[in-house]
Amino acid sequence: MTGKHRQPTRRGMFVLGGGLALAPVSMALFLWKEQSGRQTPAAPEEAPAVPQPQTASTSAAVRPPGWMADAARMPIEVNFRPESRDGQRGLILHVQQGEGSLFERFSDPVTKSSSHFWVSRAGEIEQYVSVHDRAWTQKAGNAGWASIETSGFADRPLTAAQVEAVARVYVWGARLHGWPLEVTDSPEGRGLGTHSMGGGDWGGHACPGTIRARQRDAIMRRVRDSLRS
Ligand SMILES: [Zn+2]
Repeated sequence: MTGKHRQPTRRGMFVLGGGLALAPVSMALFLWKEQSGRQTPAAPEEAPAVPQPQTASTSAAVRPPGWMADAARMPIEVNFRPESRDGQRGLILHVQQGEGSLFERFSDPVTKSSSHFWVSRAGEIEQYVSVHDRAWTQKAGNAGWASIETSGFADRPLTAAQVEAVARVYVWGARLHGWPLEVTDSPEGRGLGTHSMGGGDWGGHACPGTIRARQRDAIMRRVRDSLRS
């Protein structure tokens, strides 16, 4: 859904509510069409589109940013679907089964894969896709969930720096996108989940393995501490 059908209605209602004649209504609609038809370089994250629960009570609906200011912003050109998320259920934890930035891999159209975030063993965070866009990480789970890849292997735990970095991403998502402060093991749930919880519909992966999946409790403790302070 885009803001196309919402904004003129609201604006028209406002003008009518003010008891003005039809001429200003037409003028308002005309001006709106002028504005909406213009291709501006303004940040798309500011465009009113998907209604957000946080802004439901305010008339000036401005979406929260889809890019985390604290992460290295490395937008990919392919392997994601813009503006096609269906809510913000939370974040899905993945294991890379390898080391090093995934930017090159996700920039290759052949791979048909991507994630929103990636975290190195040292805790560096890279972001490849806005969380308003659908990354291609967990199939049927792509519409509702953001995704984070973690460098390393399933038989080794996340480093302390990775736990901290995933927590920082989650704090950002909790504050701006309403990700709940919970660990979940259900694709129908919300919170910090795993790739494996989606079963066959999500690609049938064991990712991120039991060692890293169990570390979600420590991550969520860190998130709660951070939001309290
Ligand atoms: Zn995975």
